[in-house]
Amino acid sequence: MRYQPVIGLEIHCELQTDSKVFCTCQNEFGGSENTRVCPRCSGMPGTLPLINQNAVRLAAKAGFATDGTVNNYSAFDRKNYFYPDLPKAYQITQFDHPITTGGYITVFNGNKMRIHHIHIEEDAGKLVHDDYEGISMADYNRCGVPLIEIVTEPDFRSVEDVQDFVEKIALRLKYAGVCDARMEQGSMRVDVNISIMPVGSTEFGTRAEIKNLNSVKAIGRAIEYEINRQAEILDNGGTVIQETRRFNDNHGDTKALRSKEEAHDYRYFPEPDIPPVWLSDEDIAEIKASMPEMPQSRFKRYTEEYGLPADDANLIISSKEFSDFYDEAVKINPDYKQISNLMLVELNRNLNESEKTISDVAFSPADLAELVKMSTDGVVSKNAAKDILKIMFDNGGKPMEIAKNNGFIMDNDASEIEEIVNRVIAENADSVESYKNGNQKIFGFLMGQVIRIAGKGANPKIAKDVLTEKLK
Ligand code: ADP
Ligand code: ZN
Ligand code: MG
Repeated sequence: MRYQPVIGLEIHCELQTDSKVFCTCQNEFGGSENTRVCPRCSGMPGTLPLINQNAVRLAAKAGFATDGTVNNYSAFDRKNYFYPDLPKAYQITQFDHPITTGGYITVFNGNKMRIHHIHIEEDAGKLVHDDYEGISMADYNRCGVPLIEIVTEPDFRSVEDVQDFVEKIALRLKYAGVCDARMEQGSMRVDVNISIMPVGSTEFGTRAEIKNLNSVKAIGRAIEYEINRQAEILDNGGTVIQETRRFNDNHGDTKALRSKEEAHDYRYFPEPDIPPVWLSDEDIAEIKASMPEMPQSRFKRYTEEYGLPADDANLIISSKEFSDFYDEAVKINPDYKQISNLMLVELNRNLNESEKTISDVAFSPADLAELVKMSTDGVVSKNAAKDILKIMFDNGGKPMEIAKNNGFIMDNDASEIEEIVNRVIAENADSVESYKNGNQKIFGFLMGQVIRIAGKGANPKIAKDVLTEKLK
């Protein structure tokens, strides 16, 4: 490759507030067309906006989630444009004074991708095109849904940088309760700005902005396509023009949508109907204090303090609920590795088979912590622990009670096992003979016979030791 790609992102995220940003309409995905609208969000003349305090709070949290600075002063502006999905013919946004400034996310290769700022704005409606009737209809349910736009510096140099960043920021926003980050539902939408320059150059080329990317995979395909398209233009002595393009998922290509607007095209001016937002240092400190521990910090704790392998730590942090459950369990029983194993293998198996999520689980982290302790203390065997987990998962209940009721408590008395071993040896003389002649596989068969007679409460280690001894 003779060209170095340079990429910057603009990410729109819907905030998880109960109501819209400037009115009291419900903020929820879906619903019949135009059922969640009122005079304010449908742009009736004479109505006044009222800022949703929780939207401000969540936007500030997005700043903390990305190590940015939350500003004491931020203010709203009008961005004017005519399009049928925007009934007011202007969008309320923040232009000069965004809610947060700075911040960064470190991606897989250790490089920091810097965030320029995060601002608050309102979403527009949706146009529904009916090709058969040849008409377009407007659904205003999404009008006035609170958004943040996260604008990065052009720090990305590869598809992998971008994809890792998008996955990490989505996870952090979910942890902070800012956004559910469902790209396929459009609650998180990524616009990608791409330019290329000759390798070794420091002067950035002209960029194209690609809209409409609704998955991490689509982001990768769109970037690859766009790099090749621009390289071909430059190779043929042409110049890349600054424009907005749309990615077509079916064709895997991008098409020009419109030439890039400049800020002055939008006739920005201060929003006269909303006073500036003032957050005192105390307000900001209080919001910061309400943040949960972020995934990257948990990852560090799990790998460095708890000694978990990186892959396991990544699996645990991939869901906040799962990670919270783990943290509660290890607070009670700091057996980091065993609790991680039981959750990642057995609990996950049960979750996958039932299509439940960790929030639906009928037992508590304390129950899981106790179950692991029962297993490591030799009260129940490892296999019995799996069975107990399944019963707890299906019906709830306390691990010790389940163990008692189902005969899972291990019998650690060797004399009873010895009787059973003697009986098995006597009844299987041929097999014993064959084992002694070197057929090692027979051992497993004989063990099976012992456990079958001894029942679920048998201590497999004692049984194995006794059988080995008797076969000598
Ligand atoms: P504008 O104000 O014209 O929209 P910005 O400076 O706000 O431009 O940048 C918008 C986005 O484009 C940001 O994500 C930024 O990182 C990215 N960007 C800026 N210049 C380039 C470039 N030459 N190549 C790729 N991305 C760029
Ligand atoms: Zn409304
Ligand atoms: Mg911009």
